[in-house]
Amino acid sequence: MKKNVPHRLYLTEDQLPKQWYNLRADMKEQPAPIINPSTMKTAVLKDLYPVFCEELAKQEMDGETRYFDIPEEVMDIYKVYRPSPLCRAYHLEKALDTPAKIYFKFEGNNTSGSHKLNSAVAQAYYAKQQGLKGVTTETGAGQWGTALSEACSYFGLDLEVYMVKVSFTQKPFRKNIIETFGGNVFASPSDRTEAGRKILAVDPENSGSLGCAISEAVERAVTTEGYRYVLGSVLNQVVLHQSVIGLETKKAMELLDEYPDIVIGCAGGGSNLGGLIAPFMADKIKGKNDPRIVAVEPASCPSFTRGVYKYDFCDTGMITPMAKMYTLGCTFKPSANHAGGLRYHGMSPILSKLYHDGYMEAVAVEQTRVFDAAVQFAKLETILPAPESAHAIRQAIDEALKCKESGEEKTILFGLTGTGYFDMTAYASYNEGNMSDYIPTDEELKPSIDAIPQIPGIQE
Ligand SMILES: *Cc1c(COP(=O)(O)O)cnc(C)c1O
Repeated sequence: MKKNVPHRLYLTEDQLPKQWYNLRADMKEQPAPIINPSTMKTAVLKDLYPVFCEELAKQEMDGETRYFDIPEEVMDIYKVYRPSPLCRAYHLEKALDTPAKIYFKFEGNNTSGSHKLNSAVAQAYYAKQQGLKGVTTETGAGQWGTALSEACSYFGLDLEVYMVKVSFTQKPFRKNIIETFGGNVFASPSDRTEAGRKILAVDPENSGSLGCAISEAVERAVTTEGYRYVLGSVLNQVVLHQSVIGLETKKAMELLDEYPDIVIGCAGGGSNLGGLIAPFMADKIKGKNDPRIVAVEPASCPSFTRGVYKYDFCDTGMITPMAKMYTLGCTFKPSANHAGGLRYHGMSPILSKLYHDGYMEAVAVEQTRVFDAAVQFAKLETILPAPESAHAIRQAIDEALKCKESGEEKTILFGLTGTGYFDMTAYASYNEGNMSDYIPTDEELKPSIDAIPQIPGIQE
């Protein structure tokens, strides 16, 4: 007899994971090592110390340690907003008339409104441990800056946030929250950095990009005493911290005697997806189970599906280390028409490697279909999803509809990464019928892909 599945299942406090899981330890082949652009050689640990906190740099470079203890001080904050619930989308299943079971892990139930707090807390903790004064970062849509401002205020750290100008203008409330928690926010490109001034000199109206905001934040970190840089996605350390999502999910599903046939997540830089899939991917790698794992990205910023697997900079300013990843080129600028987040040019090196080796699939979806799914889901499940999360909803619905056709009772799991209360401009444009789709042509993608740097002896 199958267990009776509640609408929302919360683990108890003593069932919470006490360690993060490092998927790299179980990968058959490691992701390619990062390259230090000043030597054009594989980066070593000490290359990272001017930029990152030492503990975080160690986590970044460690492909062997399978489990990292979650520090007690981090656990203390996790317990304020975790566990996050594993939800069964009964109403959506019924409306779709599908035999599939649809589960989602909901990470939006904290003030930051997204999964990003999981890594923000960890990163702020390690910065404080090291005795730093403050940290710098970039934020695109604003969720990372919000999460980090909460974490920094908790641990008593100063914070400088470089916010992509278009979001700064469109989402003033995000800025207000960051400031409420004591963070300082600057529209990027700004005149506070060399990288920002360079861009403004050529194009004073530049609306910014994540890559440019990263350049500014890194520049400030390495030139300001007692500061380091922190990043909310892409990096191995972030995927490590986000493994709490997957570990909780797997535990909760075990309690229900369930196992997903399909695991779906939206992919911007890959952190929520990397965290959600970690324990399931481990089963797949070890041959214990064989779930399909699907990354969903916007058709307007299609790193996995139309990018190339190459070494590239993580930022537009070309000052960060270079990582081998699926990338559209660090000079790629997503269309201004694109409203739904997930606009980063690259992708987590861990996920890139797994995708390259055939362990996971990727699909690109258009934003009007994403918002169709968001609104359908909101009405049925009473959660207003973040547009990013709605990419995963779209794919979950499409998979459930395929099950309806075939009559298969598959178990579908997706990550609902956050809520969309600060994305009402996008919802408004959808509701008013003004939203359109934009799929770049190959010609439009070519210049930034062609501009991916060459590395003598490694990448010609
Ligand atoms: C940042 C963000 C994402 C995308 O980032 P990943 O690193 O790919 O997880 C997805 N959903 C929400 C709500 C976010 O804030």
